[in-house]
Amino acid sequence: MSSNAVANLTLPLLSGNAAWAAQMNATNSTFLPTLAEAQAPPVVWIGCADSRVPESVITNQLPGQIFTTRNIGNQFHTNDDSAQAVVEYGIGHLNASNVVVVGHTNCGGVKAAYAAGAPTATDSSSHAHATEPESSDTCSRRRSYFARSASENSTEEAEEANDPLNNFLAPLIDLRRALPPNATVLDLTVANVRAGVIHVVNSTTIQDAWAAGREVCVHGWLYDLASGLIQDLGFTTCSDSTVN
Ligand SMILES: [Zn+2]
Repeated sequence: MSSNAVANLTLPLLSGNAAWAAQMNATNSTFLPTLAEAQAPPVVWIGCADSRVPESVITNQLPGQIFTTRNIGNQFHTNDDSAQAVVEYGIGHLNASNVVVVGHTNCGGVKAAYAAGAPTATDSSSHAHATEPESSDTCSRRRSYFARSASENSTEEAEEANDPLNNFLAPLIDLRRALPPNATVLDLTVANVRAGVIHVVNSTTIQDAWAAGREVCVHGWLYDLASGLIQDLGFTTCSDSTVN
């Protein structure tokens, strides 16, 4: 494919945007100009980068409703400044009152971590051993967990140790190893959402909000790609650090 043909793949986005803006302004000529002045989203969304889970589309929301961060496998970790900053800004400065951690079925990141952290013949005899943190030596030899073509495999092996994608999956792989050997991909998907909820709940932002008497709730949801429906996983907490 020529470079022009590649670049032209973005043209539908620009023409689609022009059509969308025209329709929005025809429907309500003051909506976008008013929204341009300020935002007050009620919800902070922590989701997966997957193209099939666009938060405002699947929840039928207009711009201005969802403050968002998305990454591989909808992870939220205490050492992730980007995700932490989104929650801090959304809750602490925009006064959003809810955080939703949203996993989804058939997640490539979760499936890759599930496969990489699966029990092997040598370590499946001891589940406790499988939950131990990875050694740095193990990390240095970590392989790429996403499927690659044969040519990519032959040229990129040496780069895998410092591959940001692999590094970002490491906590998810550790979570897989902490689950029972017979856990399913869906089990890991749900466990990952629950871990995210726990990390959000224990974040300085949420703890400070609760200490100040604010009503802020944290939720864990699961989006089903095939049905298009969101399931509340029942992890909601609005005042208590204990997550079911
Ligand atoms: Zn995903």
